[in-house]
Amino acid sequence: MTYKSLDQLNDAIVHCTKCPRLVSFRTRIAKEKRRQYQDWEYWGRPVTGYGAPDAGLLIVGLAPAAHGGNRTGRVFTGDKSAEFLMRCLYDAGLASQPTSLKRDDGLILNRGYMTPVLRCVPPGDKPTARELANCQPYFRDELRLLSDVKVILALGGIAFKACLKYYQSLSPIIMKNYPFKHNVHYRMPDGKLLIGSYHPSPRNVNTKRLTYDMMVDMLMTVKELL
Ligand code: SF4
Repeated sequence: MTYKSLDQLNDAIVHCTKCPRLVSFRTRIAKEKRRQYQDWEYWGRPVTGYGAPDAGLLIVGLAPAAHGGNRTGRVFTGDKSAEFLMRCLYDAGLASQPTSLKRDDGLILNRGYMTPVLRCVPPGDKPTARELANCQPYFRDELRLLSDVKVILALGGIAFKACLKYYQSLSPIIMKNYPFKHNVHYRMPDGKLLIGSYHPSPRNVNTKRLTYDMMVDMLMTVKELL
């Protein structure tokens, strides 16, 4: 199906049931809940992208977290990764506030749009190849509709690979010519700049594989490129 608008695409995404394992997992998490969120009505559905339709920057993550996006219904919202990422985006001048806590918290991304390559939380944060392939067409359609994007910032190796797969679906590219590292920049065949970044996960942040300075420095460069 060809979606004519982001609204149409997002409507299809939130009703998607293509991956039985993920449908069952996201529903179970939403029912069982984490103790500290017993009062929340979990979203428990696929999570769409979020931000400005005329965004110049597309930030790409892997998938909603079980008690983050799967609870709040917004990508990079309500978990530790969101906490670190939003503070860095705010300090780099790319977000209107340093926190991302819930869908109606007023967050505005300055010329930015955030999206996951997999819309449903996978068990153990490990999607199967089939699940990633099932969800890839939504990412392709989103990129087509976000026609002002100049820079794609992929957070983590899986998101980066999904971006390369998108390009491979347009015209043959040699994947091994695009190794993933932090702050690696590639000019892609359509003129967009693809930037790789370590994922702002607690594991990467706590081990200092990714520091606040590394992230903000990179985001300041991204801002200049927009
Ligand atoms: S991961 Fe994507 S394709 Fe699979 S059920 Fe969720 S929205 Fe649908």
